[in-house]
Amino acid sequence: MRTMTTSPPRFDVCIRGAGIVGRSLALMLASQRLRVALVHNPSNLPADHSDVRAYSLNLAAKQLLTDLHCWPEGAACTPILKMHIEGDQNGKLEFDAMEQGVEALNWMVDVPTLENNLSTAVGFQTLIENTPEAVEAPLTVICEGRASQTRAELGIQFDVKHYAQHALACRIHSTLAHGQVARQWFQNTHGPEILAFLPIGGEASHEWAIVWSLTPTRAEELLNADEADFCQQLFKASEGIAGHLDLISERAVWPLQLARAKQWTGKMPSPFTSNQVRAFALAGDAAHAMHPLAGQGLNIGLGDALELARVIETKEFWRPLSDPKLMRRYARARQAEVLAMSCVTDGLQVLFAQPSLPLQKIRNWGMSRFNQLVPVKKWMANQAMHAPSK
Ligand SMILES: Cc1cc2nc3c(=O)[nH]c(=O)nc-3n(C[C@H](O)[C@H](O)[C@H](O)COP(=O)(O)OP(=O)(O)OC[C@H]3O[C@@H](n4cnc5c(N)ncnc54)[C@H](O)[C@@H]3O)c2cc1C
Repeated sequence: MRTMTTSPPRFDVCIRGAGIVGRSLALMLASQRLRVALVHNPSNLPADHSDVRAYSLNLAAKQLLTDLHCWPEGAACTPILKMHIEGDQNGKLEFDAMEQGVEALNWMVDVPTLENNLSTAVGFQTLIENTPEAVEAPLTVICEGRASQTRAELGIQFDVKHYAQHALACRIHSTLAHGQVARQWFQNTHGPEILAFLPIGGEASHEWAIVWSLTPTRAEELLNADEADFCQQLFKASEGIAGHLDLISERAVWPLQLARAKQWTGKMPSPFTSNQVRAFALAGDAAHAMHPLAGQGLNIGLGDALELARVIETKEFWRPLSDPKLMRRYARARQAEVLAMSCVTDGLQVLFAQPSLPLQKIRNWGMSRFNQLVPVKKWMANQAMHAPSK
């Protein structure tokens, strides 16, 4: 009789996608002495991969990235001390770190610096191997972003609601210092628009990261407008609050969507061995995508990575990584928070996209009224600042 023996896989976990979520997860798992294959396919990167964005990250994300020794320092990280939000009819909402009794409401982090820090840390970690192709492992984690190919190959339904808005992002310099104040305007002059001026470049800087959610046609127009015209329109939309503006980066546009994978975990069909049970889990934008108006997408994605690492760290010693029960624990722990944040961002987008005058009045009145409810405001800011929690 002939018996077939299969050698044990070289890796415990295969992570597909080396974005911020994939790399952070790889580092957390390697710190648990797990052997990680990180599928890093350079052909998936755009030719000019210089991200003009800066992300607003919360305290939990800061703690996680600090533990990984990857938190950007100095000019690459700007604490937000105040946040001013204006409705489309005099509605106002303000948050103040001092009033909340916290060091900062959030931190604006330079994306290329963060990606670079994570890449360097991965390079130093001997238990992580960058691989160009997926490899055999008891557990595969899919962190390929919202257009994930593996998710599609597994036949997982990705429910997508396309917003009639694209986000135009760029960086600008202003004559007035930002004073660590983030500003956001909900407007309705050229259709529903959301403009965010986010302070970057350090505490005394005059630089801002801009995220402007616009109708696709207007986003295209502003993407192609000459610099002077673009800055003039930005000046007008921001009511001249930062003084004269100069464009200091490329402009880039992202179509916006609310999306959620129907299934987050399951059995991985393996092309390598037909008889072994293998598990998979989705994390980050591969599992969910949301409107950037509240700056929560990556915060939530890092929450996934943290929870996945926690579930693995606290598993029973006899339970294999490929046990689907383990991944179900992860999915159960994450879905409520993701759903709640998706509802908040979608609700705000929909509320401010309605052109009806009575609704306009109600939403602006609601904003100003909410602004006076200090304890409720404090609670809400805390939710946004501290999720995800360990
Ligand atoms: C304009 C804008 C502003 C935003 N601002 C904020 C903010 O302020 N705060 C916040 O928290 N979030 C923000 N977000 C959301 C944030 O960008 C995402 O949530 C975050 O990038 C998701 O990270 P990820 O690692 O899951 O996916 P991605 O960043 O998409 O990374 C996926 C990685 O997988 C790789 N990949 C893809 N397919 C494959 C494959 N087949 N094989 C191997 N590798 C593959 C890709 O090249 C990439 O490196 C914003 C989004 C937008 C559009």
